[in-house]
Amino acid sequence: MMNKVYLGIDIGGTAAKFGLVDENGNILHKDEFSVSFDGYETPILKTVLEKTEYFVASSGLAFTEISGIGVSATGQIDSEKGEVIGSAGHIKNWVGSKIKESFEKKYSVKTIVINDANSAALGEKWIGAGRGYKNIVAITIGTGVGGGIIVDDKILLGKRGLAGEIGHIVIHGSGEGCSCGNVGCLERYASTTALVRSVSKLQKENPTAFPKDFEENINGRKIFDALPANSLLRQVVDNWVDDISLGIISLVHIFNPEQVIIGGGVSGRKEFIEVLSKKVHEKVMPRFLEGLEIVPAKLGNDAGLVGAIYYLIENK
Ligand SMILES: [Zn+2]
Repeated sequence: MMNKVYLGIDIGGTAAKFGLVDENGNILHKDEFSVSFDGYETPILKTVLEKTEYFVASSGLAFTEISGIGVSATGQIDSEKGEVIGSAGHIKNWVGSKIKESFEKKYSVKTIVINDANSAALGEKWIGAGRGYKNIVAITIGTGVGGGIIVDDKILLGKRGLAGEIGHIVIHGSGEGCSCGNVGCLERYASTTALVRSVSKLQKENPTAFPKDFEENINGRKIFDALPANSLLRQVVDNWVDDISLGIISLVHIFNPEQVIIGGGVSGRKEFIEVLSKKVHEKVMPRFLEGLEIVPAKLGNDAGLVGAIYYLIENK
């Protein structure tokens, strides 16, 4: 007998990833489509519904052979209604999208919707770095700072599915303004965007300390590659890691996790995880450190897609 097959969709601000996933979390077939091609004039949900039809047809399956659809989506997601109820960024025609209702009406397949950061945390727990752990704090460091909190094997969703927005923990009370309207948020200091901004400023103030072509496309990789030879840069990166650690220290004290999983491009740098881990260990109360691991994420870009299927299976 054939194993069950699920359709996972991860909707981000630029692209939607599609995957057929089996009940063990293996991705059998996948593809990716732009959702921002006309600046969101075509609503993302419309694009995704059309591409769903195309993707399933191209995989050779019929919708009747799909046991459920799991959608991981950017923004504030009401998981009960399966609807987008808010967006921290500025994506046109997105808030108000009734994802669950539209999918179930069009394809008659049970559909669940969960925020992408929460979904990524579940993906890591299912088949990634968090396999076998029950209490996890997952943090993704990228353009922003996202997160998902797993308590006793369950993702913490809160009243409307909005929990886990750890990018908006305030770490500097009179700090810089954030896109959420508040000041001093973790995201404003601990994202890769924030690091690039600080490094770019440093480079303008000290042009001779950097190679000529450094300012073009500054990114995390470039910064870490340049670290060993540049003490000014090391100071800026150290401050950045300090800020990340402030967020984690609070989370460890609140949730007492066994594991903190760090995702995003920089998490692949061993020296980054080591320094971060050291800073957390210096400031967390000793009992909270017993058995605490700080590790890089394993699934990369597939975490959201896979995690949505885990959530779907768990909530049958
Ligand atoms: Zn904020």
